[in-house]
Amino acid sequence: MTFEALRQAFGSLDGKELVRAICAEFPGKVAVTSSFGAEAAVLLDLVAQIDPDLPVLFFDTEALFDETLSYQQQLTQSLGLRNLRVIRPAAEDLKTADELWRRDVDQCCHLRKVLPLARVVHAFKVLLDGRKQFHGGAREKIETIEEGPEGLIKVSPLARWREADIEAAFVERSLPRHPLVAQGYRSIGCWPCSRPTLPGEPVRAGRWAGAAKTECGIHNMKKSG
Ligand code: SF4
Repeated sequence: MTFEALRQAFGSLDGKELVRAICAEFPGKVAVTSSFGAEAAVLLDLVAQIDPDLPVLFFDTEALFDETLSYQQQLTQSLGLRNLRVIRPAAEDLKTADELWRRDVDQCCHLRKVLPLARVVHAFKVLLDGRKQFHGGAREKIETIEEGPEGLIKVSPLARWREADIEAAFVERSLPRHPLVAQGYRSIGCWPCSRPTLPGEPVRAGRWAGAAKTECGIHNMKKSG
């Protein structure tokens, strides 16, 4: 199926129906990426309902909050996800990346997130992710199905969900919250580059606050051998 045909066939779907359709269309070729952040439970819950054996690619940048690491274990267990794959930076790359976030956030994300994903993504045709339009910035215009580099297909089943839909899913499905949400964090990545949002700020205002950077780069990465 061509990309355009895929978009025509499934572009009107979202949420669980879209996850189901994509998994049926690309058996064995779908993975979901997750930071196990503030809203991650919603997409992971949909995945667990469709296929708990779907590979879940978790980025352990080695600069995550301890709360994220424990939440990852709690959520994986409570949702019954059976195929967690921890994606880590190469030891060789970390030799030059000590506190690199202080000097060069783009290169730091490249070594800790983009390269590690690029090393494993060739095994998949489709990556599911939890991006949403209401997060603003470059995400305002994302589609549920997008063309990635080198034939990769990016699927964001929650792209059109509003903040209230996410909250409703947490309540209806009794999903556990990331412990830092209670401290005002609404978007959670690495500890050096995340802070709680202030009243009235956009959801992702606490990420790389004070810098021009708004995305880590994994949604634009290229495949590599
Ligand atoms: S979010 Fe910050 S600490 Fe994490 S990889 Fe990017 S620059 Fe480095």
